[in-house]
Amino acid sequence: PSITRGVTVEVPKVSWDDIGGLKDLKRRLQQAVEWPIKHSEAFTRLGISPIRGVLLHGPPGCSKTTLAKAAAHAAEAAFFSLSGADMFSMYVGEGEALIRSIFQRARLAAPSIVFFDEADVVASKRSGGANSRSNTTVGERLLSTLLTEMDGLEQAKGILVLAATNRPHAIDAALMRPGRFDMVLYVPPPDQEGREEILQVHTHGMKLGEDVDLKSLAAATELFTGAELAGLCVEAGMVALREDISATAVFNRHFLAARNSLRPALTDSLLE
Ligand code: ATP
Repeated sequence: PSITRGVTVEVPKVSWDDIGGLKDLKRRLQQAVEWPIKHSEAFTRLGISPIRGVLLHGPPGCSKTTLAKAAAHAAEAAFFSLSGADMFSMYVGEGEALIRSIFQRARLAAPSIVFFDEADVVASKRSGGANSRSNTTVGERLLSTLLTEMDGLEQAKGILVLAATNRPHAIDAALMRPGRFDMVLYVPPPDQEGREEILQVHTHGMKLGEDVDLKSLAAATELFTGAELAGLCVEAGMVALREDISATAVFNRHFLAARNSLRPALTDSLLE
């Protein structure tokens, strides 16, 4: 079986400044990722072991993937990514081989970050009971391979596993034991200040009219995720072009029209 299917390797170019809001979270992630790499002697001095796994959870489109990439970029770490959903759809044995090969390559390339997206698909709670056996075996085998690899990280230096999920309650308790995902961070949808910063990030390269008021726009986009705000900026540009294909700037009315044409997917009930 091909062990390269579904794998991407890169040193991401995303920086912390590309992520609007989440100041505190960025700081905590930075410490968890950068300190073990850049100040490993401090950990030895105090006799503590660095965190080996961080679980990021929160609604879709709120920058979990982007945070993982920014962390890798800041630590100058190689970035390996795996998707739970991709692995689940592979042939028997292929997913396990993929996990082992990723960790093998991450060890060789250290410092590295292994990003495990949609972790709940693989690492969901193992259901007991005899008749659930057949449909849990794929997930169980993948999970136990992952656990073996994570336990093996004790000897390896400079490898951190970041996992992302929208469904933290579905994650198997075995992953939450000490030495596995010791740090759990909630990545919330942006508040008003965060939305303004996100809008600044995504309008940075745009030609804006002088009347553009990102502060009011941030106030008018409650429950919008970062991904939706990025989409809104593109849509505002499209509105301007639909009005006049030779437009040279995007004005506030274009942003308002884009705002009114979009509905956020999140509702209050989805928030934790
Ligand atoms: P999913 O759970 O769907 O994988 P996610 O939480 O991993 O989502 P990302 O893939 O990181 O979210 O975000 C999607 C896009 O939304 C990013 O490429 C980025 O353009 C934009 N985005 C999200 N949050 C922010 C933010 N805080 N600042 C700037 N851009 C953001």
